[in-house]
Amino acid sequence: MLTAALVVVALQQPAPAPAAPAAPPPLPPQVGDTSPFRRLALPTPTLLREGSGRPGPRYWQQRADYTIRASLDTATHTIAGSETIHYVNNSPDTLTYLWLQLDQNIYRASSRGAGVNPTDARFAGRGFEGGYTIQYVRAVQRFGKASGRAPLATSVNGTVMRAELDRPLPPGQAATLELAYSFEVPEHGSDRMGREQFPGGWLYEIAQWYPRLAVYDDVRGWNTEQYLGQGEFYLEYGDFDVAITVPRSFVVAATGTLLNPLEVLTGPQRARLAQAAKSDTTVAVIAKTEAGQAFTRPAGAGPTLTWHYSAKNVRDVAWAAAPNFIWDASGYAGVLIQSLYPPEANAGWTRSTEYARHSIKHYSEKWFRYPYPTAINVAGPVGGMEYPMIVFCGHRAGDRNLFGVTTHELGHQWFPMIVGSNERLYAWMDEGFNSFMNIYSGLAFYHDSVPLGRGPAAGWARFAATGRDQPPILAADRVPPALLGSVEYGKPAAGLYLLRQQLLDDTTRFDAAFREYIRRWAYKHPTPADFFRSMDDALGEDLSWFWRGWFYRTDVVDLALDSVRVRQDSGGPITRIFLASPGGLPMPVDMRITLANGSVENVRLPVEIWLLGNHYLYERKFAADVVKVEIDPGQNFPDVRRENNVWTRS
Ligand SMILES: [Zn+2]
Repeated sequence: MLTAALVVVALQQPAPAPAAPAAPPPLPPQVGDTSPFRRLALPTPTLLREGSGRPGPRYWQQRADYTIRASLDTATHTIAGSETIHYVNNSPDTLTYLWLQLDQNIYRASSRGAGVNPTDARFAGRGFEGGYTIQYVRAVQRFGKASGRAPLATSVNGTVMRAELDRPLPPGQAATLELAYSFEVPEHGSDRMGREQFPGGWLYEIAQWYPRLAVYDDVRGWNTEQYLGQGEFYLEYGDFDVAITVPRSFVVAATGTLLNPLEVLTGPQRARLAQAAKSDTTVAVIAKTEAGQAFTRPAGAGPTLTWHYSAKNVRDVAWAAAPNFIWDASGYAGVLIQSLYPPEANAGWTRSTEYARHSIKHYSEKWFRYPYPTAINVAGPVGGMEYPMIVFCGHRAGDRNLFGVTTHELGHQWFPMIVGSNERLYAWMDEGFNSFMNIYSGLAFYHDSVPLGRGPAAGWARFAATGRDQPPILAADRVPPALLGSVEYGKPAAGLYLLRQQLLDDTTRFDAAFREYIRRWAYKHPTPADFFRSMDDALGEDLSWFWRGWFYRTDVVDLALDSVRVRQDSGGPITRIFLASPGGLPMPVDMRITLANGSVENVRLPVEIWLLGNHYLYERKFAADVVKVEIDPGQNFPDVRRENNVWTRS
């Protein structure tokens, strides 16, 4: 150390002053790759999540199986339940604690959701104060054939709860938890669950209604996003055994297969359901003239009935109950399609089962076979919300609105019920993909050729031109509520529609790639990177420029005609069309070129014309003078400034 310091001192002796050098030339420009075509930066691929977008050979996922026993007290609107969770640790990690989702805690007066949402907001509780009461959380310990119970220490953090395990849970082992809980059902449960009083009695839509295991995954560890209202939910897959006790006069609809129809249905109802299961057309199980009448419930002395269900390989269960449901059903390929609605529902609900059957059939045939035994549409206070095998749609909806909300909520059976992405973080991966599928479901049902609403690029461009666009990659709770529909539903749907209809030369290429993504990630937990990679891999394209501009940013499309000139060479006149793409998002260019002799030529230039910059010269000989050039005459691209799309010879 000392020697080195002396050397440094020696080197610091002043040098003789040099002669002043000539001024050096300026340094050349130093730039990074800022092109819209630069590779999209994604997490490094691993053996869990591969560069191809597939789950890798080391992919693992946790599993949570539930046994739930719950009863509904209609005098106090209270649900009291107990549950046993069998949690299998397939991760390579030893876990010492588990996180559970307690969504009902959003209705505590002090909740973060109450702070975020104005009292009357769609995703608020409208002033209702409730939340979970947890009686106990304990671990079941097994000693040979004997078993014991160990109370677990817990701490609640808003809408999540951490439970300290009584012993570390090693990889490959399972833990069994028992919980008992209760809560009062809010009337307006953030437009996801709740209750409404009809002349015939209360109608309940019950969801996010039992403590649920949070997802532990390889990407983030525990996924503990708070339930703030706008972000939906993210859960593990498992099997459910659920028994729901309600007043004898009530009819229940729930996720899963009804295990005890002999106890809770009448003979005629069982016969009608069996007939409906084989029927393409709608069969009344409880007709409007029968709804609410005593003979629609099995005779018996007890004040309650327990409805028992089994659901396999689902990420959640939900249910509805009312004393006066009209009940319709039909069948499709072994799937029992059902609708339950009160007599006061919009008269359009008589077509709900037809809409639901079309939706399940359409999505099954186009994208991925529906894997569950039933699909149920329930009318009630919730405007539109989805759970495995059951959806809630507003009872005031009718006609095309009811078709739209039904085909949307049932489309969620594919995203996120089958393809289990994180809705709280990536709403676009379920709302957007689903809204995209809805376009084609609507076209098929109404035999239309042009999509309504969210499909057309032109509609999207009008919104983008307002400057209010946001990147769909934002977590649901970070998007202003007024923009949620545009940003997380409409924009990703319009983007996939644009990709399928315009950016690829053949729609079947898109369909094969999208099906491959669904097949690869069915019953798994894909991230955005997994989707982008899987699509690029199956399409044989590097769509970095499109994924970045459309999903991560608010880059706009603006294709422009700068000028058209003519130059002479020895072979005659050559027309020079100067094109520009001043927006951040490049696109292929469609041109319609009209000649003086009246003929018209259509030219498609690939997106690669912008690889070297945002100006491009299209130059060639024509059979006659060019008198008019139009960019994107079909309005297929979301161009925010069409004023610069046309040139006419003056
Ligand atoms: Zn939705």
